[in-house]
Amino acid sequence: MKRQRVELINGDITRMDVEAIVNAANNSLLGGGGVDGAIHNAAGADLLAECEKLKGCETGQSKITGGYRLKARHIIHTVGPVWHGGCRDEHSLLASCYQTSLALAKEKRIKTLAFPGISTGVYGFPKDLAALIAVNETKRFLDKHSYPEKVIFVTFGEDNYEIYRKLLEQ
Ligand code: ADP
Repeated sequence: MKRQRVELINGDITRMDVEAIVNAANNSLLGGGGVDGAIHNAAGADLLAECEKLKGCETGQSKITGGYRLKARHIIHTVGPVWHGGCRDEHSLLASCYQTSLALAKEKRIKTLAFPGISTGVYGFPKDLAALIAVNETKRFLDKHSYPEKVIFVTFGEDNYEIYRKLLEQ
């Protein structure tokens, strides 16, 4: 992987000074718990008003809004799969979250994009497998495209940070 185009940070994604952050949303796009709730809280009520117009989003797909009170100018909302043991297409649906988010960033010529660990909270995706998919899909995309120029994986805890750090070292 082109290491200079990928970074790893442990922290709160709502505070990131990047052009766009990715939200681990649900099908309604109307907010929820975890990182979704934190992003809606930080961005303010105008975000919910824009999300209401989007009429939801299918699992594995992504939609973009403004960032409102965030430093980030855009939010890419992607809907990760709920983990059911791995037999319900979870792997390819999670890969699709990364692919469609990166494709939106490319289309909008977004230079810096920060991802949380999609589906690794209440949706229960195994963290090591989710990180492998995140890194592999991002690597594949960046090898082919010049936007986004940089992707930052933002972990929320040392355990997930270590998983990504080992993968990115390889
Ligand atoms: P999902 O429903 O897709 O599993 P969650 O929000 O429950 O989404 O969790 C996704 C990941 O985001 C988890 O790894 C969780 O630890 C992480 N997370 C929660 N809050 C934040 C935050 N403020 N910044 C970055 N990551 C966060």
